[in-house]
Amino acid sequence: MLKYQGKGVYGAVAVGKISVFKRQDVQVRREKTEDTASELKRLEDAKTAAIAQLQEIYEKALREVGEANAAIFEIHIMMVEDEDYNDAITEMITTQNVNAEYAVAITGDNFAEMFSAMDDAYMQARSADVRDISNRIISCLTNGGSTETQSDEPVIICADDLAPSETVTLDKDKVLAFVTAHGSSNSHTAILARNMNIPAIIGVGETFLSEISDGDTAVVNGFTGEFIVHPDEQTINNAEKKHEEEQEKKALLQKLKGKENITLDGRKINIYANIGSVDNIGTVLLNDAGGIGLFRSEFLYLENTDYPSEDEQFRIYKRVLESMAGKKVIIRTLDIGADKQCDYFHMPKEENPALGIRAIRLCLNRPEVFRTQLRALFRASEFGNLGIMFPMIANVWELEEILAICNEVKAELRRDGIEYAEDTELGIMIETPAAALISDRLAPMVDFFSVGTNDLTQYTLACDRQNPAIDRFCDVHHEAILRLIEMAAENAHKHGKWIGICGELAADTSLTETFLRMGIDELSVSPAFVLKVRNAVRNIDLRCVFQQLPEQV
Ligand code: PEP
Ligand code: MG
Repeated sequence: MLKYQGKGVYGAVAVGKISVFKRQDVQVRREKTEDTASELKRLEDAKTAAIAQLQEIYEKALREVGEANAAIFEIHIMMVEDEDYNDAITEMITTQNVNAEYAVAITGDNFAEMFSAMDDAYMQARSADVRDISNRIISCLTNGGSTETQSDEPVIICADDLAPSETVTLDKDKVLAFVTAHGSSNSHTAILARNMNIPAIIGVGETFLSEISDGDTAVVNGFTGEFIVHPDEQTINNAEKKHEEEQEKKALLQKLKGKENITLDGRKINIYANIGSVDNIGTVLLNDAGGIGLFRSEFLYLENTDYPSEDEQFRIYKRVLESMAGKKVIIRTLDIGADKQCDYFHMPKEENPALGIRAIRLCLNRPEVFRTQLRALFRASEFGNLGIMFPMIANVWELEEILAICNEVKAELRRDGIEYAEDTELGIMIETPAAALISDRLAPMVDFFSVGTNDLTQYTLACDRQNPAIDRFCDVHHEAILRLIEMAAENAHKHGKWIGICGELAADTSLTETFLRMGIDELSVSPAFVLKVRNAVRNIDLRCVFQQLPEQV
């Protein structure tokens, strides 16, 4: 048995086979060849295999994410067949007598550079696509066309670390658990694991990847952070027992479906869910959330290889609103930057990206991107109960600019004869200490606040949420954070506005009573935690002078 200790970021247990996450980059060597005819034949076969793979991916994407998002794979097929691209590869093989892999890699690089030097943003974005298809052809050349996709049975994904964009491209039904060498508990990968309801362990250490292999059996204990490879029978039995107990606990919580979020003394609150994709709506409904308190719209951008158009966005927002059938849906505007990078934004490299051009700062610097999203959002507002929320606010002037842009976008829509819901609520996230401290000035300007405790913690305690080395210093229960939340709650209520919490702390049931006593009106949590928080709320009596710990179900 090999044992590793990391940090559990979603409490659940999984037993299964390991799949080591492989990145696409392939090392290519230049090799001389006299037999150029057979290199050309290898190239043709590899292209046929690549097109077959892309066709399969296109069809899967069509089923899972719809036509607009699947279209990119049709473009990839066209690129594989592109005449100029193919002529350049063939010429290199025949004139320089080199192997096909090398000719594809060099041609791919040349085309990618050429695209990224173009003025047009759309053409620049093709640079990543041409690299992608070149890598695909190379991998078909090097491994005979077998794909590096996930296996058919659900597996435990092991990686050094996973970028949010990598996590979203995984087939969710085929993931039993995540285990990473690095990462921190507030990283977006950890949040995604929670959204997906799967056990996840981060920070198991550098060496583990060199000691495990695809197909090894392992046990992931997301409660204790223990990861055991080649477990003995006893360990497997214990894990399976724990898994069953968890399932039973979940079944007990299911009894709370349809019940109110009401304290013993009659105080009602809203419990909403956080999601990052329309695909998560099923789990929102399944867990009986009263609405969506945070739709992280940036995942729409991260899943794409180019800016999603107004129409594409409109269709997705409309689908979310219609699926929620009149329940509140709060869509947060684009929060790109820091750990969420999108190639086609071509953001300059920053020393401290978490303190840089991120979220609303990016939107205010790139108003054309912001306006496209706002137009899509307001157009969709007709189809349900929409709230729009702006992230990373630190200044009154930022909010003034945002509201002015919103008014311009609405005036434009009126001019174009397009309907929108005039009563769409506008709110801001309280995730900088500055926003909490000036919440008395911000409250009159908006309809609601939602506290993003993940970033509020990071910025208040000066603790990078991506850095596991400082977990010890990053006390999410720190008095400073609780005081800032309390201050924002008081100021919101003073101005007749509601306030929610949508950071991970909202699901921490040891704080539910504290939040209710502060007057928090809404808690928005990963779908899997909705019933757990409901259970906590239903066991609280605000008439008691002393706080009680929530009863276990
Ligand atoms: C937060 O910061 O608490 C939050 C909800 O936003 P995100 O985690 O997406 O940065
Ligand atoms: Mg945040």
